[in-house]
Amino acid sequence: MPLFGRPKFASVTYIKKPSNLAGPTDIAAETVSKEKPKDTCKGCNGSTPQHEVTANLGICPKCEYHNPMTAMQRITLLSDANSFRELDSNMKSVNRLGFEGYDRTYLEKVKSTGHNDAIVTGLCKLDGQEYAIGVMDFRFMGASMGSVVGEKLTRLTEAATSRNLPLLIVTASGGARMQEGCLSLMQMAKTSGALARHSLAGLPVFILLTNPTYGGVTASFASLGDIILAEPKALIGFAGARVIQTTIKAELPPDFQTAEFLEKRGLVDRIIHRKGLRRELSLLFSYFKPGIDARS
Ligand SMILES: [Zn+2]
Repeated sequence: MPLFGRPKFASVTYIKKPSNLAGPTDIAAETVSKEKPKDTCKGCNGSTPQHEVTANLGICPKCEYHNPMTAMQRITLLSDANSFRELDSNMKSVNRLGFEGYDRTYLEKVKSTGHNDAIVTGLCKLDGQEYAIGVMDFRFMGASMGSVVGEKLTRLTEAATSRNLPLLIVTASGGARMQEGCLSLMQMAKTSGALARHSLAGLPVFILLTNPTYGGVTASFASLGDIILAEPKALIGFAGARVIQTTIKAELPPDFQTAEFLEKRGLVDRIIHRKGLRRELSLLFSYFKPGIDARS
């Protein structure tokens, strides 16, 4: 008599996504979609000349939809002119697992974005207050977290800790980078450990969640801020809404995984319109100035 029965394999059934649900893959697809003209808003389908949207910090003047920003646009928005000094800009991923096609895709993204991976890190000032900043760039493979993203973020956190500086991480990611397998998943523990040491030193961590933030990034450093901010209507989650709906076989609320939904439930502290970000962050840096003990 066999000790064990035949192995049972799970079956996966694909169900077509209802139009009101969007997951990170959908967002990624929309971001790179070439079907819509550039001046058609993804929020309201309205047509506004691209230069007007750009002049409005990437926000649709009709519906306030916050379009994605590149890492350097975000850094320019959140720092004093010419104060940014980049760290570890030359670090590049190695295709350690020999994942087919990874080298080619990686090289294409390096060329198209001008960055060597999906995060830009460095030190800068805002209203004269020095801080460490890390900004993910969704154009680079959906800002997936591979070993370079994890290592750069860890080094940035350690630089902030040793210099007694507050840290801001601006997230946008589809999650862990599948081409790097478990090496990518290990970054979750590494970044979390560095943030824990930063916290033990009595230094603040601010997170700004932007659209979309998913997967291993949400499950690690993106949820570990002392203050967690988000842009309006940003989609934030671990698995996408479609996967969850298929798994639990239940209708999800229409605003599921939006920043507003998470704020109501305490996972996001505050939603800030892009135009108010500079002022709010500057205030937060002054409130949480290292060395000031709130109890004294
Ligand atoms: Zn719009």
